[in-house]
Amino acid sequence: MAYIEPAPIKDKENPLESMMERFNIAAEKLGLSEEVYNVLKNPAKQVIVSLPITMDNGKIKVFEGIRVVHSNILGPAKGGIRFAPDVHIDEVRALAAWMTWKCAVVDIPYGGGKGGVRCNPREMSPGEIERLVRAYTLAMIDVFGPDKDIPAPDMGTGPKEMAWLMDEYSKAKGTTVNAVVTGKPLVLGGSLGRTEATGRGVMVSALAAMEKLKINPFQATCAVQGFGNVGSWASALLEERGLKVVAVSDISGAYYNANGINIQKAIAYRDGNKGTLEGFDGAEKLSDPMELLELKVDVLVPAAVEDVITKANVDKINARLIVEGANGPTSFNADKIINDKGIMVVPDILANAGGVTVSYFEWVQNRLGYKWTAERVNRRSDRIMKEAFDQVYKVSVKHGVPMRIAAYIVAIDKVAQTYQFRGGF
Ligand code: GLU
Repeated sequence: MAYIEPAPIKDKENPLESMMERFNIAAEKLGLSEEVYNVLKNPAKQVIVSLPITMDNGKIKVFEGIRVVHSNILGPAKGGIRFAPDVHIDEVRALAAWMTWKCAVVDIPYGGGKGGVRCNPREMSPGEIERLVRAYTLAMIDVFGPDKDIPAPDMGTGPKEMAWLMDEYSKAKGTTVNAVVTGKPLVLGGSLGRTEATGRGVMVSALAAMEKLKINPFQATCAVQGFGNVGSWASALLEERGLKVVAVSDISGAYYNANGINIQKAIAYRDGNKGTLEGFDGAEKLSDPMELLELKVDVLVPAAVEDVITKANVDKINARLIVEGANGPTSFNADKIINDKGIMVVPDILANAGGVTVSYFEWVQNRLGYKWTAERVNRRSDRIMKEAFDQVYKVSVKHGVPMRIAAYIVAIDKVAQTYQFRGGF
């Protein structure tokens, strides 16, 4: 019998609660009215669908697909699609709201959304994944649109999935609509610089924060959790700027080398090894991968999943600066201790906004019917990231709050003001 597996009970902290706690603090600092608070708190739209897919063995399996539009106040909703076994509606709600705040922090004209399908893409064939993407797209045909809601890659999805999404959407509309999705392959209207964009933004915000903390990049050490698109590009670009990357990790484990890991070698090894670092000999494997987070380094970049720095391990964090490549890697319960320890955090909604910034450039290029050079993309996204960092830093000093709360203040203020001008019913 085909059935939808129940959402797994997570032993993680709830990311929606973590998001709301910070939202509440920032809303109070801003003196947000109760009416506007309620508008910004609740997602604008939540769609859950069942997707029956014929698997390679001929049997039909039903998957659950979710899309949450948190807000379309600043513009069409924008945000990735996650394919992972533990996708949960609360997580998607939190991720959708984070997209709203993220787009507002970097001042791009988008609201926030997020999608997810509960599945394990590592155990599925390319054909099964393609059918799932196409079924999901068709189920969301009235949700998506270049002026409504523009998806993009997230964990477990990439350019291939975006190509299928664009194709299925275009078929249904009877015309090629490449601006309906970003993160596409270059030949389909993808943007130069999109692949490395999130990692590049992490690098730009890390350097901006290091300047404030007076950490010399050429004498700094760094540990990066996660060696997917974000973590590997962040590692490579930080190494290029002089930092010694002493530890990296992926699902196969964590790898440490006090003399610095050769990141290009690690990337080449991963690419020739079915996408994992298993067996990488340029570093020694740590007995517990979570030890990576506790290393005494200048910069720690969590670039994997949510809730890895929690009340369970926050006491043992030894970094001077945390730059959040992942969405929600620090739970709310860990914030206070991190602040008490004097560790600066460049929060997710700022640090990893380089990805959606270049997604915006991709959408702009699609609509212009024109292609920018990599140099133009990088220059403009670096400028946006640096300006956003400086604004958040200024607000953090002005209000005497940590960078995370300052980023929420900047974002919520922008969305609230826009809402007040637009008005309701
Ligand atoms: N999934 C990415 C994020 O969380 C990118 C979203 C996008 O480009 O729309 O920021």
